[in-house]
Amino acid sequence: MNKLLKWGLKNRKEPGVTIREMLAMLQANLNKNDTRPLVHLGIGDPSVHPCFRTTPLAENAIVHSLRSSHFNGYAPSAGISAARRAVADYLCEDLPYKLSEEDVFLTAGGNHAIEILLTVLARPGANILFPRPGYPLYEARAEFSGLEVRHFDLVPDRGWEVDLDAIEALADDKTIAMVTINPGNPCGNVFTFEHMQRIAETARRKGIILIADEVYGHLVFGDSKFVPMGTLGSVAPILTLGTLSKRWLVPGWRLGWIAATDPQGILSESGVTDSIRDFMGLTADPATIIQGAVPEILKNSPQSFFLKTNNLLREAADVCYTKVSEIPSLKCSHRPEGAMSTMVKLNLSTLDGVVDDMDFALKLAKEESVLVMPGTVVGLKNWLRVSFAVELDALKVGFERIGEFSSRHAKK
Ligand SMILES: *Cc1c(COP(=O)(O)O)cnc(C)c1O
Repeated sequence: MNKLLKWGLKNRKEPGVTIREMLAMLQANLNKNDTRPLVHLGIGDPSVHPCFRTTPLAENAIVHSLRSSHFNGYAPSAGISAARRAVADYLCEDLPYKLSEEDVFLTAGGNHAIEILLTVLARPGANILFPRPGYPLYEARAEFSGLEVRHFDLVPDRGWEVDLDAIEALADDKTIAMVTINPGNPCGNVFTFEHMQRIAETARRKGIILIADEVYGHLVFGDSKFVPMGTLGSVAPILTLGTLSKRWLVPGWRLGWIAATDPQGILSESGVTDSIRDFMGLTADPATIIQGAVPEILKNSPQSFFLKTNNLLREAADVCYTKVSEIPSLKCSHRPEGAMSTMVKLNLSTLDGVVDDMDFALKLAKEESVLVMPGTVVGLKNWLRVSFAVELDALKVGFERIGEFSSRHAKK
């Protein structure tokens, strides 16, 4: 027992409230006598809504993979060759240089890719820079790897751009990497190319790896185009994360990737890619039958499917933005132009008896059967994260109820 105590397992710092824990708290607070249907604006899983169904091509690719009997065995630990090559080709369409299958590692979804990178990059005394607001799994995972976490802000008044001065101030010789999420979760922003150039130049000057979380890649519907960070791979070494989960609306299929988008070869020279390859041999693989379907899915998914998804998201984002502007206690500082959620600021001075974002979300769940995520969970107190990847009718009903809640609690 003494030894266990000495190892400090008990003293492990409690991670903050995770999204899942918060959802459980909100759900426990629902009023069971409310017969109205629950409106869930708290999760980023659109697949529960019939309008967000994946393309039949992807479903058929899985069936074909299964029936072929070629994908019933163990896969090589970095993934089957044809699928790695397909990811490399898919990414190359938007890059000014070539990737080979050796640059790509298949993971069991984006979360697994995060787990692998934060395990491989952890060194005693090292620190890593994450955006705030962000995606809380990064913090929780870094804690387990013993990586010190430092936060830089995303600036709401500048369309949620990275506060580059903060990076200059935070990064030191123990900083191993910084993370960007573009298109942005939770803010729904899309970086301009000029801003991405400044991020990459900062990373180069500071000698740090840029981890580009692009799990929402191509899910854009505003004025800004999606440009992969890997485009700037010759400026700074970049590790790109992707997944089928979001663009193909199939988070349950658990297929993602890490790509070394690093034409200068800094990552392989410094042993990072070798470490990733080694660690892939120790960690779980995505199911082989899913890997078997990847080439068909990445090469042949119809543009019409992608267009339809982006159009649905644009409509939903617009409803969300317009409705928020009609509710006095809420403010959305930036019209969402990508991904599936946005951050809404609470104006608590207009409300009576609502102390903070947690209180708002818990009371809203109880009184109106609407779930939204308190901003505290993603790093911004007294904001809310609203996921708009839901059926339009449900979204409208949800905002009607938030409006009623707001009026009922308005300061007289
Ligand atoms: C959803 C998400 C992931 C995880 O992707 P999965 O493939 O669902 O594991 C990673 N990063 C961000 C920012 C996400 O929103």
